[in-house]
Amino acid sequence: MTSRPAASEPYTTVIGLEVHVQLQTRTKLFCGCPTTFGAAPNTQVCPTCLGLPGSLPVMNRQAFALALRAALALNCRIATFTKWDRKNYFYPDLPKGYQISQYDLPFSADGWLEAADPKGAFARRVGIIRVHLEEDAGKSMHDEAAGVADSRIDLNRAGTPLCEIVTQPDLRSPQEARVWLNELKLLLVYLGVSDCNMQEGSLRVDANVNLHILRPDGSLAKTPIVEIKNMNSFRSVERALAYEASRQWEEWQATGAELGSAPKQTRGWDDPAGVTRGQRHKEESSDYRYFPEPDLVPVTVSAEQIAEVRAGMGEPPGELRARLADRWRISDYDADVLVNQGRDLVAWFEALATLTDDGKVASNWMQQDVLRTLNERGGTIAGFPVTPTAVADIIGRITRGEFDTSRGREIFAAVLETGRSVADVVAAMGIAAVGDDELESLCRELLAANPRIVADVQGGKEQAASGLIGQAKKKNPNVNPARVREKCLDLIRRG
Ligand code: ZN
Ligand code: MN
Repeated sequence: MTSRPAASEPYTTVIGLEVHVQLQTRTKLFCGCPTTFGAAPNTQVCPTCLGLPGSLPVMNRQAFALALRAALALNCRIATFTKWDRKNYFYPDLPKGYQISQYDLPFSADGWLEAADPKGAFARRVGIIRVHLEEDAGKSMHDEAAGVADSRIDLNRAGTPLCEIVTQPDLRSPQEARVWLNELKLLLVYLGVSDCNMQEGSLRVDANVNLHILRPDGSLAKTPIVEIKNMNSFRSVERALAYEASRQWEEWQATGAELGSAPKQTRGWDDPAGVTRGQRHKEESSDYRYFPEPDLVPVTVSAEQIAEVRAGMGEPPGELRARLADRWRISDYDADVLVNQGRDLVAWFEALATLTDDGKVASNWMQQDVLRTLNERGGTIAGFPVTPTAVADIIGRITRGEFDTSRGREIFAAVLETGRSVADVVAAMGIAAVGDDELESLCRELLAANPRIVADVQGGKEQAASGLIGQAKKKNPNVNPARVREKCLDLIRRG
């Protein structure tokens, strides 16, 4: 794919990603061993995942169903016939000497996923070349135990089901790559496909990057493609890509090396140093001597099976954003903030919006009070001590004029702290609804004390009435500013 740089920039950064996600199954892909994270080394193994002679793999149907769900959500074409292949290479963490993967007939291909910058700076639809299933390898541990100079192997991970997602080189900046990865992660978590926990290795990203450079004569130069590995957060993906783009730009200026002149290079990201460093040259796929796995039967997928998975998929984040914005009349930005917090928080918001019948007010309370509290205290909405009913109660009282929004916030904070009901807190704080007569006499008092403001309003400057509100709240903290304003204007008009 070719991309011409904008005239203002010397080059365009062209990025493709390869993502491995661990599928959320209780057991491994070809045996019944558990996939629980953090168990003591080599306690979750059996003859099959240890690759002992005579053991035979049996496919985990749940893993296949989850991968199917991911592929459908990524708008992929599902193959009706798919098979397994052996990818042969020698490495100590691979007990069989090969990885069971999918080579020429992956179970899905040709999809896409769109991601947009929440502030509207860009929206990018990224093509998915293929999604396939494979097993994970074990883990080498070098010098990790104190006083141990040798290397050790933990095979608990060997045979864990992975979904490999390979994109087209459609991303055009390191920032786009980060935003797109966030969207992919959100989608997979929403669908229950993976927990995408990068710290536990449930999501790993490699990135391919090169530059398309516009020469002064108008022709296009492309730098050799570099694959970056060893990035352990989306933030490091962004940093590594930015570093690599400027490194390639300098190298091209110095050497003029172009795509095709050198084999694909692999570089590792050194996060503390903030640089990429050269690693071994990448094998061509012929080096892996792929051949069909003789111990597993090919898998056929029926239209009914696809329909069933699709029906049970739930609302993906993209559709959910659009529905929230439309149904509750909130901005795309606000819908994005809510959806990014996960399905449980969206359900909490919709409960509140339904009770108050006002999506905008509900969304404001979610962002200013509920989310801020969650950010400050940590934890999830599932354990949040205030219910949507309580917040709806507060909002209802504000609407009815019992008190204003800032008083409402104090009540919210008190409900949060004490766990008492809104009614109890209102009573304990001595907040009583300000009756009409009380309001009127208060306003008459204010008008008598402020002839200047009265004159201004009579002269057509209605905004001068705002000067009365602060005074009203000093006299009675429970009055509703909107009602004070309305009542004062009314009294002035009536003379
Ligand atoms: Zn096993
Ligand atoms: Mn792979």
